[in-house]
Amino acid sequence: MAPGVVTPTTSGPEHKQDTDLTASAVDAKLTTKNGHVQNGHVDPKPAAAAQLAELDASKLTYTLTPTPRPVPDEATANSGLETVCTDHMITATWSARTGWAAPELKPYGPLTLMPTASVLHYATECFEGLKAYRGHDGKLRLFRPDCNAARMLMSTVRISLPAFAPQELEKLLLALMAVDGARWLPRSRPGTFLYLRPTVIGTSPQLGVQAPHEAMLYIVCSFMPRMDSPVGGMKLHTSPEDMVRAWVGGFGYAKVGANYGPSLLATQEARKRGFNQILWLYGPEGYCTEAGASNYFVVWETKEGRRQLVTAPLDDRLILDGVTRRSILQLAKERLAGELEVVERRYTIDEVIEAEREGRLVESFAAGTAYFVCPVSLVHHRGKDLVIPTGENDCGAYTAKLKGFMYDIMYGNEQHEWGVVVNEKE
Ligand SMILES: *Cc1c(COP(=O)(O)O)cnc(C)c1O
Repeated sequence: MAPGVVTPTTSGPEHKQDTDLTASAVDAKLTTKNGHVQNGHVDPKPAAAAQLAELDASKLTYTLTPTPRPVPDEATANSGLETVCTDHMITATWSARTGWAAPELKPYGPLTLMPTASVLHYATECFEGLKAYRGHDGKLRLFRPDCNAARMLMSTVRISLPAFAPQELEKLLLALMAVDGARWLPRSRPGTFLYLRPTVIGTSPQLGVQAPHEAMLYIVCSFMPRMDSPVGGMKLHTSPEDMVRAWVGGFGYAKVGANYGPSLLATQEARKRGFNQILWLYGPEGYCTEAGASNYFVVWETKEGRRQLVTAPLDDRLILDGVTRRSILQLAKERLAGELEVVERRYTIDEVIEAEREGRLVESFAAGTAYFVCPVSLVHHRGKDLVIPTGENDCGAYTAKLKGFMYDIMYGNEQHEWGVVVNEKE
């Protein structure tokens, strides 16, 4: 071999250590034998891990409130500055020594944390958001809660909080709704919803910058305003040139609190200027990624005249893999196959502007649990307004169709495996 040529090390302990540290290797740690998730951090000594208790929904204890609060109507509940939660919450604590304690269902109220708690300093927090829907058939449903539970596990592990079996989280979500659903989302209010917010936080009272050795999972359930049909459609302002929401190699794909706090400055400024959300662009090319905390879609015609539903891809891990996004793409493929091609690819704001200029831009919408499927009527980019057709009732025809498919599954007009019925106590 010529002197000076360095042979790359493809085997040996040093190389192995490096590949073990990639994000995909971290993901691989999520799955172990029997679909069981190893408790807590990955332990090289399985014998030690076996002694740690798993998260187990069957151990849930119930302490019901002696003083149930009056249930406000939707308008009152959403008018205050404090999110109104239902009577109960579920908590489960974890420690590196013992694993998961039995989860508890108990009256809604404050948590106790030391000022040194990991979450308060190092953003060891992740969350999920899903709704419970009161159906027109009287039944209470969650929409694909298995997807939220799986995503929560992915986010949890990304910030070195303890793993759990996602089916157990799903059971806990159903358990909370079984207790609070009947009163807080009564059968007399079909077509309404509550919002479930599972959260995991690092609670270790230790300032050392390291993975927490204590954590807590909790679930609360709240009211949330409807945001899916703003008068005149949703108006977006593109992100400032000197800000990105997420980056390649970052954690934009995980629902970790650290993604959201820093985005609020731009959102607040956009609101002051009369816009609803930021359309987050990425890179010098200006790739369209997400609209606020929702996935972003456009319907356009290609120069060749093909109608496409276009959204950003998942493979570069910039965007959140939304349950709404995934469902819409699947429904569009199944039910609008003759009308729309479904395309997941990188696309730039300039392509959208060009489509508009050439009369090829058909519709645009944002989609996520909070905003449901919300028509976008305007994008403001570098001093110019891009006006997007919204048609009748401020909602384009494809947007309305996709929204209708989703609505019918969520509210039981269509029986579908995505609608999981809550077994209510009463
Ligand atoms: C939660 C979220 C979404 C939407 O995900 P859903 O599962 O559809 O609710 C999209 N983008 C971001 C950044 C989010 O946080």
